[in-house]
Amino acid sequence: MLNRKGNLWVPSFDGNGAAFGFSTRLGGVSADPATAEMNLAFGREDPDGVVLSNIGIFARALTGGLYGAENVVCAPQIHSATVRYVTEADRGSGVTDRGGAAPCDGFVTDRRGVILTVRVADCAPILFRAEREDGGILVAAVHAGWRGTVSGIAAAAAEKLASLGAVKKSVRAAIGPHIGPCCFEVREDFRDAVAVERGRAFAERHIASRDGSLFADLTGMNTEILSEADVSPERIEVSTECTACRPDLYHSHRRTGGKRGAMGAAAVIL
Ligand SMILES: [Zn+2]
Repeated sequence: MLNRKGNLWVPSFDGNGAAFGFSTRLGGVSADPATAEMNLAFGREDPDGVVLSNIGIFARALTGGLYGAENVVCAPQIHSATVRYVTEADRGSGVTDRGGAAPCDGFVTDRRGVILTVRVADCAPILFRAEREDGGILVAAVHAGWRGTVSGIAAAAAEKLASLGAVKKSVRAAIGPHIGPCCFEVREDFRDAVAVERGRAFAERHIASRDGSLFADLTGMNTEILSEADVSPERIEVSTECTACRPDLYHSHRRTGGKRGAMGAAAVIL
């Protein structure tokens, strides 16, 4: 269960030294109907300055005004299972400094004030919180479209947290708003591609036939993959909202044929 906090959704593990949030399309300054109001992706209908303003609004809403756009880390997303460890030195990368950001689909950190941010518009955003033996906090954020999902990016994030000293039982995850099995219609070749990566049984479990069509379930896929990585379902919170069903609240690539803005999902140690 996620809770609404202003224009954001936050998991129950928000607070206690770290902040986590999934944006909606509300609360930003984008004026174009395709991206209004809150678009966090450059290179769409908005001038860069508008996107930068939105990132600042999002960062301040997330952190209660503590940090702005200069603390955000973003990267070009490539539907991979690559999760990068980032530090203070990466603040502003992909945002105020857009030149050198290496492509990836997730971030992890143990440093304060580094706002790990992924962007989505139907793909599943997943945020993580974990702790070390000494109580030190670790956070992660990943972008999981179907390719990243079946490539195991959620498990890659859990493994990265473990490699940084996370106590396994402390790891918690939240899957934010994304396209649901109500709207994520796919073709046979999609099911075959999932089966190649994860096996036929996995594909059958998470791709259901309905009225002669196939529909995929990203929540189910990521929950199963996280369970295999020792993040059991009771430590996973899930949004029940579908981005394609709610154009009033979310950007949806599928619904708009790609003429859309993007939401953000972010995690930061305060
Ligand atoms: Zn839907």
